[in-house]
Formats: sequence, C-alpha cells, structure tokens
Amino acid sequence: MLKEKLPELLLITDVCLCDYTDHGHCGVVVEDGGEKRIENDASLEVLSRIAGSMARAGADIIAPSDMMDGRVAAIRDELDAAGFKQLPIMSYAVKYASSFYGPFRDALESTPKFGDRRSYQMNPANGREAIREAEQDLAEGADMLMVKPALPYLDVLHALREKFSVPLAAYQVSGEYSALRLAAQAGILDEKAAVLETWTAMARAGADILVTYFAKDYAAALPSS
Ligand SMILES: [Zn+2]
Repeated sequence: MLKEKLPELLLITDVCLCDYTDHGHCGVVVEDGGEKRIENDASLEVLSRIAGSMARAGADIIAPSDMMDGRVAAIRDELDAAGFKQLPIMSYAVKYASSFYGPFRDALESTPKFGDRRSYQMNPANGREAIREAEQDLAEGADMLMVKPALPYLDVLHALREKFSVPLAAYQVSGEYSALRLAAQAGILDEKAAVLETWTAMARAGADILVTYFAKDYAAALPSS
C-alpha cells in the first residue's frame, strides 16, 4: 500500500520472527531434552520465506535483524530464485545483546518469554567478533552492514569503516532515543543540539546511513548533500 501511494518512498523492511512469535524470540524454538533453545537452521527457512514475501510486497531493501548464522545466504538464495536478483540486503550484521532496546520491546511486547537473546545477539564486551560477523555476512552477499545500537558502539562502527568499503548504517535505538528525549524534557539537555551531536559522532565514526526515531524531528536540520 505504501509503495502504491508513495512510489518515491524507499522502503526498508526488517526480517525477524520476534514480532510474530508468542515466545518473543528471533528464531524458531525447539524443545530438546526438556530444555528450550533457538534452532538456527530451522529459522533460516522461515526467515527467507518472510524476505520473499516482503520483496513481492514491494520492499526496496531487505534488512534481516534476527542474527541467525547463515541467514544472509539463505535470504539471497530465496530472493534470487524468486526473481529479485537486484534487491539489496542490509544486514544487521553487528547487533549487540543491549540494555538499550527496552522501550521498543515494551511497545512491541517482544520481550522473550523465557531466556534471553544472548545465544544469537553479541556480547557487548566482544569487539573482534563484530569483524567476523561482518566478514561472514559480506561473504554471504550482504550489500550494506549495520551496527546496533549506535552511540555505545562507535568504536565498532569505526573498526568496520576502516576494514570495509560497503555502506554502513548506525541504528540509534529506542533506549538512546528515550534517554535523550527524557533528558531534554527534564530541562537537562538541548534536544536538537544533543541529537545532532550524536549524529555527527556516528558520521565521524563511519556511518553512511542513520536509522533513528528522531528522523522526523531533525532530518531537515542536516546539511543537504
Ligand atoms: Zn527479533
């Protein structure tokens, strides 16, 4: 519907399962000897089918955020087979198990009902793994890479910028947004100045694309290129 009404709009669609599952995890859950765990390879089939349906609906960029291993290759195969060889993939390649996702999870009620996402999201203390994840996703056919969250991980963003030439996106997540907005509401920060400073920092660290809840408020304040 959006592509019909606003054909000039660039649509990036987020491929994941957590918004559609009652357990809130990003992959398929199996029970194994009384213990529940996320089944990586079974998730790939479902994720690629979702990506295919997004492509048919008119997505301009497919952005897998689930963090399963091998999903970029699985999605690329599915898209190619369905005739979407030109459709780019923006991989959430470097996504940390962060405490900054809270407001988004509350809005989506997507907090996992058991366990947590640390078996597939990354350990915030591990910087080098980011390079491996990025290399793997590029080898599987990713066209763009994302780092999420943004501000607490500028060093990781910069490390990727030094190593790779593909477009890099920084995702300023809901907790980053809320912290700035609430501080401004409390009279502690000048919101516009603070937001533009965080964006400047992300660009300085190497981001080409910013994903941010402040876009509607301040995108017009960016210098046009
Ligand atoms: Zn998810």
